[in-house]
Amino acid sequence: MADLSVQLTAPNGHTWTQPTGLFINNQWVKCSTGEKIASINPTTAKEITSIHAASAQDVDKAVKAARAALNNPCWRDLPGIDRGKLMNRLAQLIEDNRATLATIETIDNGKPYSVSFNDDLTETAETIRYYGGYADKVFGQVIDTTPDKFAYTVREPVGVCGQIIPWNFPLAMAAWKLGPALACGNTVVLKPAEQTPLSILFLANLIVEAGFPPGVVNIVNGHGAVAGAALASHMDVDKIAFTGSTATAKQIMKMASVNLKNTTLETGGKSPLIVFNDADLEQAVEWAHIGIMYNQGQICTATSRILVQDEIYDRFLEAFKAQVKNVSKVGDPFEESTFQGPQVTQAQYDRIMSYVDVGKSEKATLVSGGKPFSGVGDGKGFFVEPTIFTDVTPKMRIYQEEVFGPFVVITRFSDEKDAIEMANDSAYGLGSALFTTNLTRAHRVAKKIEAGMVWINSSNDSDWRIPFGGVKQSGIGRELGEAGLAAYSNIKAIHVNMKSKL
Ligand code: ADP
Repeated sequence: MADLSVQLTAPNGHTWTQPTGLFINNQWVKCSTGEKIASINPTTAKEITSIHAASAQDVDKAVKAARAALNNPCWRDLPGIDRGKLMNRLAQLIEDNRATLATIETIDNGKPYSVSFNDDLTETAETIRYYGGYADKVFGQVIDTTPDKFAYTVREPVGVCGQIIPWNFPLAMAAWKLGPALACGNTVVLKPAEQTPLSILFLANLIVEAGFPPGVVNIVNGHGAVAGAALASHMDVDKIAFTGSTATAKQIMKMASVNLKNTTLETGGKSPLIVFNDADLEQAVEWAHIGIMYNQGQICTATSRILVQDEIYDRFLEAFKAQVKNVSKVGDPFEESTFQGPQVTQAQYDRIMSYVDVGKSEKATLVSGGKPFSGVGDGKGFFVEPTIFTDVTPKMRIYQEEVFGPFVVITRFSDEKDAIEMANDSAYGLGSALFTTNLTRAHRVAKKIEAGMVWINSSNDSDWRIPFGGVKQSGIGRELGEAGLAAYSNIKAIHVNMKSKL
């Protein structure tokens, strides 16, 4: 273990022991190739440390450990109530280590420390606790047919689950997937995003401390095209759960077809936010700002297309610009007053800047931002100014394509029909929001929007108790809430014949 961890200190003075290996069978091991991936601090563009990168051979080792754990009586026969206790212990350990985990999340991802500490860590611990509560409540039905026959169903674990995690909410996304998987008695091989593996590796030690048997959770950092692909195409993995881009999801779906894996995909979005004339303007502006600028705009459900009804368009735009100016303070993520930290990587920074060029070339009007921000340290971090384009039409790429940054397009509509058409003019269908004080309109429009989620008079206030997921090219299946359990158990029907003769 000595050479599979490193002592780190963050700019806030916090010190911790950072694991750097692969976590298989509750042990830290080196990768087979010796390859490491540098984790970069996006605030400074400097390396924090480097982490072992799993090869296909290492992934296979992790899958074997997960398979053995699935058949180990210590896990297979563990009553749900005891699985729930382990999960509750893990939730408590996450809370006990809140400051360390939040520090790691901020240094590796760039999100403000106050957000990591208050939001991400609460969501992570509560999601594990919520699903821990379900562990002894996963059961089947009795189905009567005729006097001579009945059937009952039991819910069995799907088996070995491969889970591929994105970099925007590393710990929370891991919790969304670990929670229902463990509650239903599965075993897991989890691959963090190679850009942000540090917090999830630290979590691995808490999984051991909570008392989970070896092999139940295995964590292998690695490149998507190597470790992720090895997991998605592995013949002995029963399920793949993925959160990330739609383009990668399409590849994963193909790979997962080799053995018809059970698949859940949570992918991209270009979610609309509709503001009707009768909306509470102040409320709409506050949520519209949060809906796109929170987490540096790096949210799959970000309401990145704002549609405003003619009559209030000018007033909304002025108030929204003022909100961005007054609230979206870009700065060092360890500073208390910072609202927006750096983008996660150079690649994401470049992507956003390239979309600024696209917007200009499409003749949309850049009303704010569209530039790098160099006011932190030596100016090498991946900071961009919050960016607003207006005079945008549905034909434009900046209206249709996901940017994944603090980048919003604002346009106008004339009536309800127009708003619904414009909202649904998208390959995606993940989130959506609408602002109105007219009760019947709110519910009428909510029904007509093609999306997995609609927020009425808010945006992006997702919650672990409420199902999350998309339609169209935004994904398959649901995570969170009771609905999230469906993805992690198979229903077996047991037929019982009561008649002695045919
Ligand atoms: P982004 O483009 O925003 O980085 P990705 O969809 O590429 O998002 O990444 C999300 C997760 O999917 C990461 O853990 C990444 O390593 C993984 N991934 C990327 N490419 C592949 C692939 N070809 N097969 C399996 N996993 C992949």
